[in-house]
Amino acid sequence: MQYRSTRANLNYQLDAPAAIIQGLSPEGGLFVPTTFPKPIFDLEQFKNMSYQEMAKKVLATFFDDFSDDQLSQIVDEAYGNQWDDKEIVKIAKHANNYYLELFHGPTLAFKDIALQILPRLMHTAIKIKQNDSDIIILTATSGDTGGAAMSGFKGQEHTHVIVFYPYGGVSPVQLRQMLGLKGDNLTAIAIKGNFDDAQTNVKKIFNNQALVKKLKLNKLQFSSANSMNIGRLVPQIVYYFYSYVQLVKNGEITTGQKINFSVPTGNFGDILAGYYAKKLGLPIHKLICASDQNNVLTDFFKTGTYDRQRKFYLTNSPAMDILVSSNLERLLFDLYDEDSNKLAQLMNELSTKGKYTVSPVVKEKLDQLFAAGFATENEVEDEINRIFIADQYTLDPHTAVASFVTKKYQETSLDQTPTVIVSTASPYKFPETVFHALTGKEVKEKGVPAIKELNSFLQEDLSGNVHNLIQTGNYQEQIIKASEMENTLLNILDI
Ligand SMILES: *Cc1c(COP(=O)(O)O)cnc(C)c1O
Repeated sequence: MQYRSTRANLNYQLDAPAAIIQGLSPEGGLFVPTTFPKPIFDLEQFKNMSYQEMAKKVLATFFDDFSDDQLSQIVDEAYGNQWDDKEIVKIAKHANNYYLELFHGPTLAFKDIALQILPRLMHTAIKIKQNDSDIIILTATSGDTGGAAMSGFKGQEHTHVIVFYPYGGVSPVQLRQMLGLKGDNLTAIAIKGNFDDAQTNVKKIFNNQALVKKLKLNKLQFSSANSMNIGRLVPQIVYYFYSYVQLVKNGEITTGQKINFSVPTGNFGDILAGYYAKKLGLPIHKLICASDQNNVLTDFFKTGTYDRQRKFYLTNSPAMDILVSSNLERLLFDLYDEDSNKLAQLMNELSTKGKYTVSPVVKEKLDQLFAAGFATENEVEDEINRIFIADQYTLDPHTAVASFVTKKYQETSLDQTPTVIVSTASPYKFPETVFHALTGKEVKEKGVPAIKELNSFLQEDLSGNVHNLIQTGNYQEQIIKASEMENTLLNILDI
């Protein structure tokens, strides 16, 4: 299958291994299939499949330049015993909604689902393309991508991961995961600025042609592990199908019945995978886009204007503290019937004027497909408390955003469609907020002590991956200005 850029015409095409290695298109666009696949997925047949088998099926649909054996090996290695649950994802019913737990991987957040796959895809892609350059994975993170990327790429030959995160903008546990992970090919650096500063500069570095040339002379090449990489997006489609099929198997719904998914959203990668699942035939009624106080997407879905010129908040759901949701571009590309000129124009408006407005036709399509809402930090804590009291079930703050938005949506819209809340992190990843929400008290000490304090309050067994987290070593932060990112990079690479 061939891939093209959302911002360039069809003359520029490449295959999946090349698109995965490159990450981003040179003019700043994102890679999408030239022809979106129309496979016949038989949901009845899916009922007998393991998560791994379903993953192979979905990956083969998008990445047919990889052999079945290659994909098989990639999936089996990615979804092996580094997961606390051998089913990989779990679904649980609480307070009349379903919670799809995607956080049983090595870094306790849903990003592991894709970031255990991507490094292995990239490694194989390098072989397929007989690429003789080493790959520099340059990543901006609001907290969870960094750790998950470092965990996934650790020890992968011919790759080096360099992560930039906002200083003070990630949680103590996320920090520990990133800086506690030791590996020759792993680096994490704090910048003075927010996630958008990190992401904007990473995009600039990617598009700096002089720098790209210099790398090439040194047999080096950039790629991205952000959800802009198509190799990260596709593995996320799988859990939409898998959870649907589990609900059928458990007798909660019947095959063909429509359901909603409510998704705690930051960069729009997770929810876009849900949209792709719908395009592939999964019976989805509404995708509910849940945001935190950084509610640029809520306003966008309400008004049709995306306006990033607003105050930026650091909230208790840090992985969603984002004002520019990159993957929205892929959705708009689709809703504008693959008009790359239009997308180039809109994205140019976003970078020069700080905003754009979609056409009435596109707005209408958005209304059909999506609902949207946001939760404040207090609402997040109240929701964690509400679900715990209702059902002794503990949500992390990101999942609580989606849970709150779902409740509000169900009350105001009277939509009774069964709804799956995509649960993106373990509560132990954000113990300070969760402990405060449950007890009204602050933890005595942040980070690992807070995990233990939360655990002794909840009185439950800790999973293996939470145990591993507690045991990581000490760390020190390296802090630079956002303007120094490029020079720092050159220093690390020694060129
Ligand atoms: C990254 C992340 C999100 C947001 O996902 P996007 O794909 O960026 O929209 C939500 N919750 C958690 C815990 C995350 O790590």
